[in-house]
Amino acid sequence: MPPKLKLYNTLTRKKEIFKPIKKNSVGMYCCGPTVYYYAHVGNLRTFISEDILRRVLEFNGFKVKHVMNLTDVGHLISDQDKGEDKIEKEAKKEKTTPKKIAEKYTKFFFNDTGKLNILMPHVVCKATDHIQDMIDLIKKIEKNRYTYQGKNSNIYFNTEKFKDYGKLACLDLGGQKAGARIKIDKNKKNPRDFVLWFSTKGSKYKGHVLKWPSPWGEGWPGWHIECSAMSIKYLGEQFDIHCGGVDLIPVHHTNEIAQAETATKKKPWVKYWYHLGWLLFGKNKMSKSTGKIQTLTELEKKGFDPLAFRYLCLTAHPRSELNFTLENLKSAQNSLENLRKKVLGFKKEFLKNSNSDKTQEKSLSKKNKSIINKKSFISKEKSNLTTSSNYREKFLNAINNDLNIPKALSTLWEVVKDNNLSNSEKYELIIEFDKILGLELSEVKEEKIKIPKKIKEFAEKRLGLRKEKNWGEADKLRNQIRKLGWEIRDIKRGYELEKKR
Ligand code: AMP
Ligand code: ZN
Repeated sequence: MPPKLKLYNTLTRKKEIFKPIKKNSVGMYCCGPTVYYYAHVGNLRTFISEDILRRVLEFNGFKVKHVMNLTDVGHLISDQDKGEDKIEKEAKKEKTTPKKIAEKYTKFFFNDTGKLNILMPHVVCKATDHIQDMIDLIKKIEKNRYTYQGKNSNIYFNTEKFKDYGKLACLDLGGQKAGARIKIDKNKKNPRDFVLWFSTKGSKYKGHVLKWPSPWGEGWPGWHIECSAMSIKYLGEQFDIHCGGVDLIPVHHTNEIAQAETATKKKPWVKYWYHLGWLLFGKNKMSKSTGKIQTLTELEKKGFDPLAFRYLCLTAHPRSELNFTLENLKSAQNSLENLRKKVLGFKKEFLKNSNSDKTQEKSLSKKNKSIINKKSFISKEKSNLTTSSNYREKFLNAINNDLNIPKALSTLWEVVKDNNLSNSEKYELIIEFDKILGLELSEVKEEKIKIPKKIKEFAEKRLGLRKEKNWGEADKLRNQIRKLGWEIRDIKRGYELEKKR
């Protein structure tokens, strides 16, 4: 019996055996990016982890429907409903429209996710395309008497009326007097109440471009309502998994639950909450507000392969924090390059064997089959099959134990180093494991690096000097080649050149 998939559920603070609501099919919703700027690699780490979760579910035979939103309206500078809409603000800065800002950064986002080999969600939904769904959901919450209108005309959610409020985050509501520290917003009955619908009448920021008519006047939706409305639309009133970074637990996800459960009166809205750990940058969460961020494009400009960042993410548990430094990334890149070289060697033998297997099969069917040969082939296969299946089991145990990806990665390295396995067997196992890890290992190719003309000239000249036994001058040329970033090795045929990393 293969091990059952266990996932840590933020809602219960326990690792639980994963059992979807409907047998074999899984609804998974991931909070997508706010497309007002470039995604930083912290954001991207969360999307890589969610991609791995989806791959693990699929590996376990579940049919996954993966839905992700794009926040192109409603996310204010502060999660506490304060400040300007992020997209509107950036539009003013870049002297363009909010729509163009959202389009521009959405394009950059999917460009990055493509390079990181993140699978495209089955549904990608934009908030601005779902305003009516949000209005309809707010109407239901209103009908069930969980809303009120502030003096500024905004529609608020009344958190005091929802008994389960704060359950996900284990919020200490009794200690709410500590809300004294939070600057009291006079429009709210309770500091934790949040906006469902912003009214243009009450906005301090004039000339709001993104606005729609509604039963409560012209305005725009709050940030949290978009996720409740769109996830219900595409996955139903109750679904299996909801993901996002840990920073979303206390406000965004807490409010999403409040909205969904008071609108539909069904509990629990979501069966499993899976939260992903932060990427740290100098001890703090990588975040645009601190100004300390790195984008994937910046890393590429520094000479990094995007998949080296994916590899770095695989070295930590998706729910744990991970320190981002250029040194860590460099060592991830070295490991990945090393792995690719090994896989390339295994692949060559695998391809050779699979070709000769085909020829062997043909000749066996033509001639009388040699029973002894076949028997010995089977017994050899059997012993290695055990080794292979042990590795398969070890890998599956790791990923099914709440996504222990670092262990899965180290199992892959054990396969690489195991002398009891043939190279073909190694290749087959690695390619199977890569369905989860997503390092595109089946795509490895011999790198054809163009040798610059100058290097070639130096190398030829040096070859001549060596033939003349002029070792001193030959060494000088070797140093010059080195300075230009190349390594020269003497071999029987002449020389070999390798680009230094
Ligand atoms: P945003 O575009 O800000 O709405 O964030 C998109 C996703 O990235 C959310 O799930 C956030 O929780 C997540 N996120 C933001 N900062 C980080 C970080 N430093 N490390 C990991 N995930 C993050
Ligand atoms: Zn969300």
